Amino acid sequence: MADDDCIFCKIVAGELPARKVDEDEHTIAFMDIAPWTRGHALVIPREHTRNLYEAPAETFEHVGVAAQRLALRMRDRLGCDGVNTLNSCEPAAWQTVFHYHLHVIPRYDDDPLQLPGKPQDPSDEELDAVTEELRG
Ligand code: 5GP
Ligand code: ZN
Repeated sequence: MADDDCIFCKIVAGELPARKVDEDEHTIAFMDIAPWTRGHALVIPREHTRNLYEAPAETFEHVGVAAQRLALRMRDRLGCDGVNTLNSCEPAAWQTVFHYHLHVIPRYDDDPLQLPGKPQDPSDEELDAVTEELRG
């Protein structure tokens, strides 16, 4: 169900403009309004769902397949040298629009993006502890 306050639902409904580049039964893709690189796009499910925590399993197949299609098109038409896909879940992880989406970001050998994180150097004990906490 669409969320009345969600800008991406409004884009799906055609109530807000977007530079669409792709669509299928389950997804649409459009240019990010504030791109990190030339061609930076977002793939979203048509169906409203908040984020990684809440999306039904099939969302990931639908969005993943659409993202691959777009990445190949970026490679072939924009001549990018690589692609990042990025998803943010909740504000602590930088999510700002609460309708699940995957950023598909073409990368160029000479683009200015940098890794956002610095590798840490935890002890073996700490790695063992977190492994225990997470093991399913
Ligand atoms: P998030 O920060 O949730 O991972 O990603 C939200 C993205 O949506 C941001 O990169 C932002 O630039 C983009 N965005 C926000 N509002 C709009 C809009 O109205 N139209 C489009 N095309 N992109 C938007
Ligand atoms: Zn929505």
